[in-house]
Amino acid sequence: MGKRYMTREGGATVTAFVPYDCKNNCPFCINKQEYKNPDGFSVEAVCQSIRMFDEITPRCDFVFTGGEPLADPDGLQIMLDCVPSTHRVFINTTLPVSEHFPEKRIIDFTERNRDKITCINVSRHMVHYVQESNDALLGRLAVPVRVNCVLFKSYPHSNIKAFADRFGQYGIPIQFRADYTVTTLENLYQREGDGILSDLMENFTYLGLDGCRIRCGYHFDNHGQHIAYHRTLPYSTIPTVIDGEEVDILYDVLIKQNGAPHSDWTGVPLDVEAYRNVMYEPYDLKVLEGDPYQ
Ligand code: SF4
Repeated sequence: MGKRYMTREGGATVTAFVPYDCKNNCPFCINKQEYKNPDGFSVEAVCQSIRMFDEITPRCDFVFTGGEPLADPDGLQIMLDCVPSTHRVFINTTLPVSEHFPEKRIIDFTERNRDKITCINVSRHMVHYVQESNDALLGRLAVPVRVNCVLFKSYPHSNIKAFADRFGQYGIPIQFRADYTVTTLENLYQREGDGILSDLMENFTYLGLDGCRIRCGYHFDNHGQHIAYHRTLPYSTIPTVIDGEEVDILYDVLIKQNGAPHSDWTGVPLDVEAYRNVMYEPYDLKVLEGDPYQ
């Protein structure tokens, strides 16, 4: 066995890459390259790894991402059905509407999976990179919904309030995200020169800050709508030494499209036997300022 692993109580979040792609080409996407060569992509292989992670950490969170999870609703249903109810389940999607998957079918899908899905995170951006279904659909889904918005390069700063209000009318919270490829351990909590943070401070009521070793979140209120601004590192392993022994602290683990388990976003395969003996620590996510969740 190699290095030992440590993670938080409940287990690292498991992000499963669905084995089918989206039809988009967002400029900030780092997942797109994962879909270039679909050899070995398999719903059943992803399911096997879901069952393996459930056995090791029966209370961890699962995230389905892509590609586009809703590009093959039948495949997604098979994978969802492998996740027992002890887990929280999140789906990252652009919420594509098509002839094959019209609005009615999306709503039925959420009604059928009401008890399985904790939240659907819908990507919407201030600059349009994907064909968007209509906003009212987000308010008609039978499960909680959040909008995820990457503020990439020179987004239209003066439109940030109007963008928030566009979803606020349906009671939908927003998580703005910085381009995390430029985030480092040194600048993760740095406020100086952060134009996104300045824009948010100017337009919304600041509530507070929470964070851990690898990510932080500034929280705001927009007349009852919750707005978060999320900064994270481009990797999710923190090497450390405990009692003279080298240990990798894992925040996220991954299931690739061919079912291969990885210990980071950076292409590192997971040592499954080491993970079966993972040590646990209390989750280090803490409120660092104010009252972020009011
Ligand atoms: S929709 Fe998502 S997976 Fe597809 S290109 Fe955009 S960010 Fe990447």
